[in-house]
Amino acid sequence: MGSPARHDVEIAVVGGGPAGLIAAIACAEAGFSTVLLAERHEITDRRTTALLDASVRMLDTVGLWQSIAEFATPLKVMRLIDDTGRLLRAPEAAFDAAEIGLEAFGYNVENKPLVETLSARAEATPHLVWIDTLAAAFELGETQAEIVLANGDTVASKLVVGADGRNSPSREAAGIALRQWRYDQAAFVANFHHEVGHNNTSTEFHTPTGPFTLVPLPGNRSSLVCVERPEVAEGLLAMDEAALNAEIERRAHSLLGAMELCSPRQVYPLSSFVARAFAQSRVALVGEAAHGFPPIGAQGLNLSLRDIATLAELCVDHRMRGEDIGAAQAMTRYDAARRPDVWSRTLGVDALNRALLSDFLPAQTVRGVGLYLANRVGPLRRFLMREGITPRLGQPKLMRGIALRAS
Ligand SMILES: Cc1cc2nc3c(=O)[nH]c(=O)nc-3n(C[C@H](O)[C@H](O)[C@H](O)COP(=O)(O)OP(=O)(O)OC[C@H]3O[C@@H](n4cnc5c(N)ncnc54)[C@H](O)[C@@H]3O)c2cc1C
Repeated sequence: MGSPARHDVEIAVVGGGPAGLIAAIACAEAGFSTVLLAERHEITDRRTTALLDASVRMLDTVGLWQSIAEFATPLKVMRLIDDTGRLLRAPEAAFDAAEIGLEAFGYNVENKPLVETLSARAEATPHLVWIDTLAAAFELGETQAEIVLANGDTVASKLVVGADGRNSPSREAAGIALRQWRYDQAAFVANFHHEVGHNNTSTEFHTPTGPFTLVPLPGNRSSLVCVERPEVAEGLLAMDEAALNAEIERRAHSLLGAMELCSPRQVYPLSSFVARAFAQSRVALVGEAAHGFPPIGAQGLNLSLRDIATLAELCVDHRMRGEDIGAAQAMTRYDAARRPDVWSRTLGVDALNRALLSDFLPAQTVRGVGLYLANRVGPLRRFLMREGITPRLGQPKLMRGIALRAS
């Protein structure tokens, strides 16, 4: 073993999940000397991600979409079905992307090939050095950040991009606390083969314990996210396969015919959390290091891509003006830019989730009337569709198809 090395760069990205990989590629593509600090490991994540229209445009702008498109399934129609069995039920609502002039709302991709594709691309990106290790300690100084790595090397950078997930060590090092609250819910996830074609329609059943959502995959396959009480989700995890297939068909009201499990099963406990600041002391947070909430309406990673697009754009702006990309002023700008989008999505998803769980009649009425109006009133429906996939607030350049160049 040689002696420990020192790497001097402009940006150090910590974490090799989807957010970290995309952040590292986007920063390097914009021309910043970048290191990615992430351990390479077998990808065990069996979830899928619905990447919405603006996210697809961003990935295309940084040259990533073409290789992802090979395993992506278009989502053309989103159907919401009230399966609460309550007295006051919302009408079934269907939203068609063609109504707002889009071929698809977005594309569903499996996280495993997504992360593998992003990893291969990160390896081949100029200006990007991937160091296969964990960040062990952070010293966040006035003029630079220093990270000591688990392999003994040191990285000095102007900016640390914290993409190190919900327990984020970089967030902790920057002294940023979380606001968090838990739900008595967990998400059971697995993929199923089905008898009947999905017609590129995703279907979300609203049940009294949370949404039960089937999202199209290639062929006659769909990914399932079933939000349930934790003990019921654990029960689905342990259930004999034939019984599980029958149970999922029952819950899907045989809409797609007989179901057959075609992936390992996983359970994710649900909570919401938001960092009290999105940037501080040369650390800017993206992805689940900054925020997390229940999987309703495919928002999580899409919100993370808006973090990344905004941060990369601000870095270019600061660099072009000859300013320090990690200075306090740059941190304040990023924090202010992300606050409205992150909080409005987090509280929106929280409200939807609670309205679903609530036995409280006024909450059911608001939900029912909301869906009724969305179904009947064309302009409102089209507004909701546009807002759902791309908020009016926060449309950074990369999401408008404008490439970033720092020089
Ligand atoms: C059931 C479910 C379904 C979902 N479906 C959707 C969907 O359809 N659409 C959508 O947009 N979002 C969805 N989400 C949300 C989405 O999956 C997450 O937002 C996303 O996976 C988070 O990615 P990330 O890169 O921020 O975090 P992670 O994937 O957690 O990555 C963090 C990485 O940092 C690494 N790390 C930690 N500490 C260190 C360290 N010291 N040094 C180096 N590396 C470190 C970890 O090992 C990990 O690899 C869903 C979530 C759930 C639970």
